[in-house]
Amino acid sequence: MRKLVLILLISVTTACSSTPKGNGKSKSEGSVKKGKLVNGRRFSRKKDNYKYFSFLSYILFNRAWVHSKVLDITLDAYKECEVKHPKRKFLIMECSNKKGGEMWPHRTHQNGTSIDFGSPLLKNKRPFTRDHSYGLRHYAMKFDTNGRLLRNKKIEIDFEIMAQHILALEVAARKRNMFVKKVLLKINLKDDLFKTKSGKLLKKSNIYFAKYLQPMIDNMHDDHYHIDFGFIKN
Ligand SMILES: [Zn+2]
Repeated sequence: MRKLVLILLISVTTACSSTPKGNGKSKSEGSVKKGKLVNGRRFSRKKDNYKYFSFLSYILFNRAWVHSKVLDITLDAYKECEVKHPKRKFLIMECSNKKGGEMWPHRTHQNGTSIDFGSPLLKNKRPFTRDHSYGLRHYAMKFDTNGRLLRNKKIEIDFEIMAQHILALEVAARKRNMFVKKVLLKINLKDDLFKTKSGKLLKKSNIYFAKYLQPMIDNMHDDHYHIDFGFIKN
């Protein structure tokens, strides 16, 4: 019993850790579809203007790991977002296992360069973050073709903030000799994204958005957008 309490205490303490975990030089081996992660970093569970979406995913499945550069890029982009929108909160969803490799049900996320980002939301045109405490159920949220939540049309995706965030990630990535290699967003939501002010800039950038997704995969990418980061080879 005492041992169990101790383990729980350690888990909770680790969960509340506000500094990223991990050390050594990170290495992403292979590809996002077949790869592994060496010396990754784990996001803090909650810090400043972001949090990791699920306690179970964080503690039990241990899926908040990425390459150190990907961690820095993400934090840098959130800092940028904080300057523009000091009160806005962001959501990180599943990343990679500590050592990478297969991560059910994702087909990718294997080498610490993939992150699922929770779609920023509005309710009655004001920032809405109740979904940040949905945990794993977040992946089950369903939106219509205009980005409105099916079960409550007052809640909708904030495509302007989504575009700003993706642009901020690209800027932060380029500083580290990386880039936003691929974005997966439900195909019928892309026009809503690209018609916003920052979405227009995004469309002009060279950031690649998946042009076709199998229906099952497509349907998954409304409550979140998936990003793969790539390394620029010298
Ligand atoms: Zn993903």
